[in-house]
Amino acid sequence: MSSHIVYLVLGTNLGNRYKNLSKARSEIDELPQTRISKKSKIFKSSAYGPIEQPFFFNLALEVETKLSPLLLLDYLQKVEKKLKREKNSHMKPRTIDIDIVFFDDLKIDKPKLTIPHYDWQNRDFFIKPLLEINCDQVKKAFSEINTEISQNLKSL
Ligand code: ADP
Ligand code: MG
Repeated sequence: MSSHIVYLVLGTNLGNRYKNLSKARSEIDELPQTRISKKSKIFKSSAYGPIEQPFFFNLALEVETKLSPLLLLDYLQKVEKKLKREKNSHMKPRTIDIDIVFFDDLKIDKPKLTIPHYDWQNRDFFIKPLLEINCDQVKKAFSEINTEISQNLKSL
């Protein structure tokens, strides 16, 4: 069975942010049939969304895994629980949030799992760390946007 290349973005805005990221990283590296192949530096971002809350630290990981997308999601949710993330913390302060942004070039559109992440193009705090680790999907999307802009400019 071949390995899949997956891009994750981790976020934390509660407790010791460095510790949360480093614990989550080592938990992810120890998941079965999974290893971290690249990690970005830590980026600081302001909270996003309707609720005012403390700043975040974000980090992107490139992961090689033989797990299926849903199994990987289950394991990542276990890591979130282990790090004591409260339930129902959507858009609220959290010890750790782990989002799957890309899984090879797969497209999945279920409430439990949407890949590519539904909002990645609007989130600087996904794009910056992902570009830092050379994420192909982000580079490709931006080069397509640039081509389109230059074609539009030419036709003016
Ligand atoms: P958010 O990351 O938007 O703040 P949560 O982390 O609370 O929200 O996620 C809520 C639900 O989103 C999870 O229970 C999970 O099943 C679902 N979900 C859908 N797509 C993804 C994805 N690409 N990565 C992680 N979780 C996802
Ligand atoms: Mg999440």
